[in-house]
Amino acid sequence: MLSAFLHAAKQRDATDAVDFPDLPAGVGNLPRLTEMPCLGESCRRCVTVCPTNAIQISEEDGTPVNTVDRGLCITCGDCIEGCPTQTISSERSTKTAVFRREDLILSNSKRSPQQPPTEVNLERGMFRRSVDVREVSTGCNATDLEVNATTNAIFDCSRFGIHFVASPRFADVLMVTGPVGRAMQEPLVRCYEAMADPRIVVAVGTCAISGGIHRGGYAMANGVTPHLPVAAFVPGCPPNPWSIIHGVCLSTQSRRLSLNRE
Ligand code: SF4
Ligand code: SF4
Repeated sequence: MLSAFLHAAKQRDATDAVDFPDLPAGVGNLPRLTEMPCLGESCRRCVTVCPTNAIQISEEDGTPVNTVDRGLCITCGDCIEGCPTQTISSERSTKTAVFRREDLILSNSKRSPQQPPTEVNLERGMFRRSVDVREVSTGCNATDLEVNATTNAIFDCSRFGIHFVASPRFADVLMVTGPVGRAMQEPLVRCYEAMADPRIVVAVGTCAISGGIHRGGYAMANGVTPHLPVAAFVPGCPPNPWSIIHGVCLSTQSRRLSLNRE
């Protein structure tokens, strides 16, 4: 017993000292568009390898324009690996959640410059002290594992006032993972209806955002938006735990859930 105590006392803090740290170089993540020029129609490697049709190439004033929809991306990394010009690179920021579905669509068009990472507006708090989150998995183990990880000692989401609860009756936030296939559509809506107002929905993972690889299939699994209003979208397959915390912080706009915690 004494030796276990001494061992624990010698351990350094497990919890990340910096909130929302960038990922180390080389860690696979969502694609991002760089300033490097794209070869356009003469290449199209990224379009060809993408399994979810998340990438489109077009032309604007004679210049190739690349569009990447992170809401469809399953983070396979094939476009990043295959791009000869490094026009597509790996995103290192973990602040990848956004308020609006259309903000997940990146483009190197000069007419629609890319948006910077979405920050919390500290003046608009809906839940002042903490939020209770009810997670409903509609069928996605990978993202569920990362949601689990948000509660471990490294990420420790309770520092931000985020707590998971076992019933929608106690919940402020409905966190949805998985593609929301036919069998889970009614249970999901009933869970939402069981929550008291104000209640908000966060779609976590590419499946929950769009259906991902399941989109358009026989199970009609096209994500949450056909069924419920969504306050924040967290892309990734699966998203990093920091990105999931970022999504909950964004969705609630709470002072306590500040990204710039002192
Ligand atoms: S990383 Fe995403 S956008 Fe790139 S090929 Fe894979 S699924 Fe498509
Ligand atoms: S692989 Fe790279 S260079 Fe080729 S079309 Fe895609 S973004 Fe452009």
